[in-house]
Amino acid sequence: MLEPHFCFRCNRPCLKQDLCKKCTTQLPWVTHLPTLKTAEINEIQSLFSHEEPISNWIHQFKYRNHLQLTSLFSELMLEHLNIPPSTEQIIAIPLHKKRLKERGYNQAELLAKKIAKHTKISYQPDLMIRHKKTDSQIQLNASQRQKNVKNCFRINPEIELSKQHILIIDDVYTSGATLNEAAKTLKKSALETQITAWTIARAS
Ligand SMILES: [Zn+2]
Repeated sequence: MLEPHFCFRCNRPCLKQDLCKKCTTQLPWVTHLPTLKTAEINEIQSLFSHEEPISNWIHQFKYRNHLQLTSLFSELMLEHLNIPPSTEQIIAIPLHKKRLKERGYNQAELLAKKIAKHTKISYQPDLMIRHKKTDSQIQLNASQRQKNVKNCFRINPEIELSKQHILIIDDVYTSGATLNEAAKTLKKSALETQITAWTIARAS
């Protein structure tokens, strides 16, 4: 027998996903907007604008152990975002090991694992390391964010990074400071690396 699914938003039973059709249409989608790009990242694709109820769901996912959101968000990403056909590697924005210990999990990593499993693209958990513990970005403006994350990542010297197309997964794109710093770090090791980023939401 099929397991019953209940809508995460209205709690009504629904067919297969954890979101009913009606609630799906009422969410703040951004897929109709042009995708973003930066000097470091070829394309940044996001599902939603970072507003209610999505901002609250992301908070629950990140800080309140609502890990059932892993399936919901990863399924929506797979359904609505595009993986460039040349993608060879999936990674998640890493947490510093102290923060990972406090929180117990890395929400971006949970998404990346699901997406890799579904697409059968290789997932490399240890390719990039966050060796500098950074302050929370919430109260910072764009240039402070950039300074805060500067040189916070490094590439694991034990893993060879060849010229390839990498998909990076993160939860929210705000100023882009973290994702750009990660992309910059990857490109320092392999100049011609192509980078696509997926996030659940982006600040509008
Ligand atoms: Zn619903």
